[in-house]
Amino acid sequence: MTTTFVQNHAFFKDLAALLTGELLLPDDAAYEQARQLWNGKVKTQPAAIVRCLTVQDVIHTVRWTRAHGLPLSVRGGGDDCAGRALSEHGVTIDLSQMRAVTIDLDACTAHVQGGATASDLMEAAQKYGLATATGNCSTVGMAGLTLGGGYGPLIGAYGLAADNLLSAQVVTADGQLVTANAEEHPDLLWGLRGGGGNFGIVVSLEYRLHPLTTVLSGMLLYPLDQARAVLRHFNEFIATAPDELTIPSGFIQTPEGLTVFCLLPTYCGPLEAGEQVLAPLRTFGNLLVDQVQSVTYNDLIHQWDVNAPKGRHYYTQTQSLKGLQAETIEALIEQGLPFSSPFSFMTAHHFHGAASRVGVSETAFALRQDHLMFELVAAWEPQSPDEQKHIEWSQNISQALAPYAFKGGYINLLDQEEQERVPLAFGSNYQRLLDLKRTYDPDDVFHSTMGHLAA
Ligand SMILES: Cc1cc2nc3c(=O)[nH]c(=O)nc-3n(C[C@H](O)[C@H](O)[C@H](O)COP(=O)(O)OP(=O)(O)OC[C@H]3O[C@@H](n4cnc5c(N)ncnc54)[C@H](O)[C@@H]3O)c2cc1C
Repeated sequence: MTTTFVQNHAFFKDLAALLTGELLLPDDAAYEQARQLWNGKVKTQPAAIVRCLTVQDVIHTVRWTRAHGLPLSVRGGGDDCAGRALSEHGVTIDLSQMRAVTIDLDACTAHVQGGATASDLMEAAQKYGLATATGNCSTVGMAGLTLGGGYGPLIGAYGLAADNLLSAQVVTADGQLVTANAEEHPDLLWGLRGGGGNFGIVVSLEYRLHPLTTVLSGMLLYPLDQARAVLRHFNEFIATAPDELTIPSGFIQTPEGLTVFCLLPTYCGPLEAGEQVLAPLRTFGNLLVDQVQSVTYNDLIHQWDVNAPKGRHYYTQTQSLKGLQAETIEALIEQGLPFSSPFSFMTAHHFHGAASRVGVSETAFALRQDHLMFELVAAWEPQSPDEQKHIEWSQNISQALAPYAFKGGYINLLDQEEQERVPLAFGSNYQRLLDLKRTYDPDDVFHSTMGHLAA
């Protein structure tokens, strides 16, 4: 089958006739915009993008695409760095129009559609003084985040996003709608909690909510010459951090071009207690900037968005470290600095507390011990001629950290070229996940996903 053939409107007319939503082909005006992902480096050209409006649209598209032997991919928030939301000459099921959120106050849960972002969920939940474990940024799709695990500022208190997933509705590879919860398909629910997008298209998710409106949070910026001392202090400090306090950290660049070390603590308990807990961090060294203040959780997750805008070119490597030691601090500073570009950054997610107390086999997400998950994010403007230089910058730090890191990595941020790290990331859950894949997707329809399991 040639590309010209599959891009023909006549070829897709039977599918288009079944849909409530729009079917976009490359010569449609809206196609180019619909194809844009967060990572502007991704140039993949699907044969068609189906902007689903209903669950029935999803079911029709799965069945039709399979019957016609085309590759299938799923787009939620479009934030996957590796661009797995699109597959070349395939059909993309675009859920970005299915973002409704319903709050159930009696059950203290939120039901969100498969394309909802953290922002959609928090806008709705905050009205009732409620929140759940999202990632750090507002734009990320809740389904994509959750299927890979989902690190965020509330991880110490409430666990991963995946730990707060109570049930889901999934369109499977044969176009059936199934519910996964504690009673129905509990094996599937287990796999959706960190096992990637391997098992189907999640059209709705139910999350546990927690009473929370305001947190104590903000950047603490330190000059570079204090980075080693602050990192050592930070490493000791987090060993006894209470669940309410989660502290992402990293090396970033200010808009003025200054490279600084930063801590971004979030305390989600009583604010006065938070002031006391944070005092040893805020009085250590000579801070350049202290922006810690009370802020709504919803505002907090919008604050980081500006640092990683949509459309730039990105390449990411990850390494998860048990903690920081002299060698890893040196590797970060010696290999990572100076940055290859004014937009790159190295940040660490802080995994601890409630997330560490979940048993390894309780969910598909296997790395259940305290750690720092480093993201080594190369970012550059589309016109930069030095793409390879930026990619190598990220790879070099990753290699320098690798001897000290847990095997595997964070599946949501593994590159397409890192398939060999997937079994290591799933660890002792890998075999069970393979069995689940054979049950729910034996023909590997959902191959374009993070954490791909070859059935
Ligand atoms: C700016 C930014 C900030 C981030 N911050 C964090 C963070 O704080 N914590 C963290 O853990 N991660 C973070 N990530 C990583 C993020 O969690 C993953 O990239 C995630 O996969 C993005 O989901 P998405 O729906 O936005 O992506 P998409 O590109 O739309 O989808 C990625 C893949 O997810 C799967 N998928 C998405 N939706 C569905 C669905 N409804 N059903 C089935 N499969 C689906 C598909 O396999 C798809 O290929 C961040 C990424 C970015 C770009």
